[in-house]
Amino acid sequence: MAAPISDMFSFCVDPGRISISVEVRLIDKIKGKGLFAKRTIRKGEAIFVERPLVSAQFLWNALYKYRACDYCLRSLETAEENGRRLSGNPCLSLPHPEQCRVRRELHEACPQCQVMYCSSECRRAAQEQYHQALCLGPSKEEPEHPLNKLQEAWRNMHYPPETSSIMLMARMVATVKQARDKGHWLSLFSQFCSRTANEEEEIAHKLLGEKFQGQLGVLKQLFTKALYDEHLRSWFTLEGFRSLFALVGTNGQGVGTSSLSQWVHGCDSLELRAREREQLDAFIDQLYKDIEKETGDFLNCEGSGLFLLQSSCNHSCIPNAEASFPENNFLLHLTALSDIKPGEEICISYLDCCQRDRSRHSRHKILRENYLFVCSCPKCVSQAEELDVTSEEEEEEEEEEEGEGDGETEGDDLEDEMTDV
Ligand SMILES: [Zn+2]
Ligand SMILES: [Zn+2]
Repeated sequence: MAAPISDMFSFCVDPGRISISVEVRLIDKIKGKGLFAKRTIRKGEAIFVERPLVSAQFLWNALYKYRACDYCLRSLETAEENGRRLSGNPCLSLPHPEQCRVRRELHEACPQCQVMYCSSECRRAAQEQYHQALCLGPSKEEPEHPLNKLQEAWRNMHYPPETSSIMLMARMVATVKQARDKGHWLSLFSQFCSRTANEEEEIAHKLLGEKFQGQLGVLKQLFTKALYDEHLRSWFTLEGFRSLFALVGTNGQGVGTSSLSQWVHGCDSLELRAREREQLDAFIDQLYKDIEKETGDFLNCEGSGLFLLQSSCNHSCIPNAEASFPENNFLLHLTALSDIKPGEEICISYLDCCQRDRSRHSRHKILRENYLFVCSCPKCVSQAEELDVTSEEEEEEEEEEEGEGDGETEGDDLEDEMTDV
């Protein structure tokens, strides 16, 4: 049933090179798979670059005019347009415009539904993988279309900050529907860790709130109406739908793209005279202050994706690797945060940086609620022997947070990515 482990590299750039550096091993029944170094990996080194099996922009994010390529999530605004919108300053003009990599002249729309892509390559790739099955054609604006109703229902149940996407599930269905080799795709999707019925309920509860059972039923009905396929009968039963929902909820990796941050990275690597450097840095600092005042934290085109190799990375509260999206698209770069020895496990943190600094007790609570496991990383093991000195204070904090509504503890790397910009 499961794909051979060699397939785990098949969505990476240069899979041959990566299979020399790392390997996926089965650890045990509880932890499942893990990623291990086969050679010394140096701090700062890119361990691998991987594209997702499927990815999709979040629906609220798109509604709020964060324009992204419908396939690779590349921001379609130029860095300057991006900066203008986010800072609320229509006269903003960016120095070093050559550091903006957005190429308007390459953008292409789907001729039927007008959905936008950053290039003809992306348009073709989407068309070949799933878009034929999802293209609404001229009825794109038709509110009664089942796919539009599904998206609207999802938006009404899942407010920002968004952490998961119903469209990821739709694209999984459409991918299998369109595939000539359906078994291949099914075995790829089967690599993502599966859950017991109880755990799936917990995840649905976490993502949809108190009324999750009814809402899951509503979503399942709309999903079936929009996408039913005989080959995937089992995905359209209530149990099958719940499993798919849980798969996307726990394995979906946040993706954040930004033409402005790509421009900033470009500016950072320019060789400038000291005075020019100072001026440019001051300009960028001021710009981010203005953006923070106007838009707060929501800087990026945001979505989520299913990454095959990256999904085999376990969590650690002291990670030795981290994911980022420096190319302003869905290509995930896994970078070493410290030197990694041959045989050592490569771990990322599912927590954002603020969550990582909290007590063992608080970290465990977040990980249990969102990812359903008890962390036994070296940091947690060593702290288990210490008294939980900070826990009382933090419990108060947590109570306050819980009053603010759900969602904010959903610590995927997206939030890291956002604060990175
Ligand atoms: Zn694209
Ligand atoms: Zn279309």
